[in-house]
This record gives sequence, C-alpha cells and structure tokens, in this order.
Amino acid sequence: MFPIKMEDNLDLMVKWNNKEFDISYIRSNDCVGALKELIFDVTGVRPERQKLLNLKYEGKMPKNELKLSDLNLQKGFKILMMGSLEKDIETASTQPTDLPEVVDDLDVEDVKLDNQEIHFAKVQRRIKEYQINILNEPREGKKLLVLDIDYTLFDHRSVAETGNELMRPYLHEFLTDAYHNYDIVIWSATNMKWIEEKMKLLGVASHSEYRIAFYLDIHAMISVHTPKYGLTQIKPLAVIWGKFPCYTPANTIMFDDIRRNFMMNPRNGLRIRPFRKAHTNRATDHELLKLMKYLRKLALYDDLTEFNHHKWEKYVKRRDENRKRKRDEYSNDTRERRDDDKNSSGDGRGAGTSSDFTECTTP
Ligand SMILES: [Mg+2]
Repeated sequence: MFPIKMEDNLDLMVKWNNKEFDISYIRSNDCVGALKELIFDVTGVRPERQKLLNLKYEGKMPKNELKLSDLNLQKGFKILMMGSLEKDIETASTQPTDLPEVVDDLDVEDVKLDNQEIHFAKVQRRIKEYQINILNEPREGKKLLVLDIDYTLFDHRSVAETGNELMRPYLHEFLTDAYHNYDIVIWSATNMKWIEEKMKLLGVASHSEYRIAFYLDIHAMISVHTPKYGLTQIKPLAVIWGKFPCYTPANTIMFDDIRRNFMMNPRNGLRIRPFRKAHTNRATDHELLKLMKYLRKLALYDDLTEFNHHKWEKYVKRRDENRKRKRDEYSNDTRERRDDDKNSSGDGRGAGTSSDFTECTTP
C-alpha cells in the first residue's frame, strides 16, 4: 500500500526509561531530524527534549540535518536517550490550557513534506496499533464527515457557565442534517477523556437525531517535519481509510480550523472559519448553516476530491443564486398561469405542483 523500501532499513532501537523501542523504517540516507521524529512517535518525547547520549558526530551531538550514514551506525544499533514527556497531554481531567494558540495557519500549498516514506510508515503504525472504539457502525452508502472540535464546533478558550454558551450556533441542526448523508467522526488534538467530556457537555454524545460513529484523539495523529515550520502534529485521513475500507478519499471530507491538519490530504480538507469569542460572535456566526448547504450539494457527487473545498463559499453562493432564480421563474410562471386561468376558465391547467417546486429547490 505504501512505498516503503525495506532493503536498507537500519532497524535501530532506542532505550529510554528502562524500556526499549524499535525504530523501524529508518535508513542510512535519512537525517537525524527524521530519526528524532520517529523516536517521538514511539516514546512521546519531543525532539527538542531528546538527548541521544551515544549518538555523536566528531565528538558532539549531531545536527538535525546530518545524514545517518555520516554516523556509521551499524544495523540494530541501540541509542540511549534521556528526555521528559509533555505531561500536559496526558492530563485527562482538566482542560489543557497550554496548547498553542494558532492564529497564523500554515499555507498548505507552500509546505513541502520531506521524508514522505517515514510519514507513510507512521500512518501504517497508527492503522495497526491505534484502537478505535466504534460507537455506531458505518452505514452502507454513506459518506464520511470528519470534524475537529476546538474552534470548529466549540469555543474552548472563552469562559462560560454552561457548554451551550460556547457551542457554535446551529451545531445540532448541522449535525442532524449532515447525518442523512454522512457518517460523522470527531477528531481532536486532545486526549480521549477530554473529547468524551466535551461531547457530553455539548449534548452531541446523546442526541436523538444523529449518531457519532467514533472519536479519534491526539494519538491517532502523526508528527511531521516541514523545513519551513519545523515539527507539527497532523491528522492523516489514511488512518481512517486504512481501518475502514468503506471510507475512501472519494467519499470523505474533513472540517478543521487549522489547515495544516489536513496537510497530507489537501483535496479532502475544508478550512472552517474559527469560532472564537463566543459571547460576541454567536449572534452573527452562520458558518455551520452555510456548510450544511455545501454538504448537501456534495452528497450528490461520487468523488468529493473533484471539488476545490477552498472555494466552498462560492459553490454555496452559486447554489443559492440558482435556487432564487428558479424560484423567481416559478413565481412568474405561476402568476402567468393564474392570469391565463382568469382569462380562460376551465382549460384544465392547474397552478403548478409541489413536485415542480421540489425540483427547483433540490441542491
Ligand atoms: Mg481546532
């Protein structure tokens, strides 16, 4: 499935906290930075916190750009590491407060991912090892909608007495409408307990009109390194596609307020406007209502990657204009018929049928 060449795999190991971890899929022509990413992937210790004690180049710690071939590592070499975990990610009972506030998002078009094979290998590992608790089985023939939480469905920074005050307007209407055509998955860069708490708080977990298929948390994400922006966590949709063959690039769309989260799947991602300052903005935020229309339109097509989701508002606007034009035409036509009926009674023509209108209003 993925283009991994195994022949020059170094099969390194890392020893940390009295445990040993396999570092697969690393080759001699990969760089030290890529190795640190893989170590982060299996241990959770961020690259900047890793001290690789017995990895030296000319007596010093090697720089991230240096190729492993320059270090003359033997196949199966065991690296000794010191380093601390980011404990905040593991704290389940309280809201994480020190996650970075992302205002300036990455320009995905501008970002080139290096070490593609390593990223594919990480995705493979997630497919194999990440456990999904299925809440509701995939439904035959449905597409897939993957939703972020923070700033997409919920303003997680403002203070309020109830979750409803921070919930994005029209959330339940949106999910109810989307559920007709899409299975719904929630994917948030926090831990599972926090996701479950939020979904309960918002009434999403127990709503009678729609069901959530499953939740994904930060552990289903992978770390990638981009030359321009350094290390960052992203949400590769291939984790879902690998686990559920019924979901594919053709039938999946993901909404997230951070564009870099769909860096590996730009044709399947839609960057939603972030919902911040709930108390000020809730009266004017109609994003979910508009996106509801877009999802209805997409549901009619077999391949969602044919759409440029970056321009979703234009599609919705054009759809609204078409509907208005057709309604106007229908009204004019009806008026003319009424006038005709007045002038020539008993000719058998009615005043239009409901099916005429349905045809005009179908997305
Ligand atoms: Mg978000």
